[in-house]
Amino acid sequence: MQAKLYPWHQEIWQNWQQLLGQDRLHHAVLLSAPKGSGKIELAAILAKTILCKNGVTEPCGMCHSCQLFDADTHPDFHWLKPESEGKQLGVDAVRAGNQYAWETSQLGGQRVILIQNADRMGEAAANALLKTLEEPPSHCHFILLSQSMDTMLPTVVSRCNKWKPKLPEETVVKRWVEGELFESVPLQVLRINRGAPLAAKAFIEDGSVGKHKALVDAFAEFVSKKQGLFSVTDLIVKAQQEGLQWLSFLMLDIIKVQQGSDEAIVHCDDMKTVQNLASALPQAKVMSQLMALNRLKAELSKHTGLNSELLISRWLTEFTAS
Ligand SMILES: [Zn+2]
Repeated sequence: MQAKLYPWHQEIWQNWQQLLGQDRLHHAVLLSAPKGSGKIELAAILAKTILCKNGVTEPCGMCHSCQLFDADTHPDFHWLKPESEGKQLGVDAVRAGNQYAWETSQLGGQRVILIQNADRMGEAAANALLKTLEEPPSHCHFILLSQSMDTMLPTVVSRCNKWKPKLPEETVVKRWVEGELFESVPLQVLRINRGAPLAAKAFIEDGSVGKHKALVDAFAEFVSKKQGLFSVTDLIVKAQQEGLQWLSFLMLDIIKVQQGSDEAIVHCDDMKTVQNLASALPQAKVMSQLMALNRLKAELSKHTGLNSELLISRWLTEFTAS
């Protein structure tokens, strides 16, 4: 796990350093930030510092603990995460974490338990964690990561010291991504990725720009010519949750244009497509389809066994119904 401090985390890190220096860091830190903003790397610096044998406010990078941390073999660092992307964090993983919390540190210092996707814990898992957070063992720190606190059990949130790093302004993110990639970055790439710098960078690197364009174009073609249902369905299914999110942004953009607003349009580099869709579709239809899409997104992320192809094509067909 790479410990790295990105420029937009400076402020929060300085706060933590101050608390570490005064030995006042809360036993459970909850860090909430969008996907692709580098919160894991920030959590890693904190974990490495807590575990370091020499440094108090930053890891020395030299001691046995720091070396073990860098090699991903630290016996007192436990990283709990869902088995795969999109899955929930299981109760078994949380129970294992609870057990580590009560064991004495192998290196005679602290233990750190990092919980990734704390917003994707089922109720049983959240309740299991809650018990430990309520009566925290000494020499143990919890770091919880989430994309949003809204979907977390409020009792868990209330037991944590909450941190929400502010992402930099669009122009700063744009410059940062461009500096990393040595190429110019369309503004809508940042907006599609909610301004999260690493997500925007990955979007370009992994070819999502092309996938996104193909999906939007196919969708626009389907709406205007009422044909190509299978190809657009296929593109959405392949892009999974992300594809549904792109469409959700697109629906919102269409509504904004229909209402005469051009503020914070996500697809700002595809304005012609958005405008064409805005004039081709009745506003009431777009509104109801946006709501249906949000319901569909929630269902598909909750129940993995659903036939996504069927449900998505059914949603698409509604555009052609009068
Ligand atoms: Zn060290």
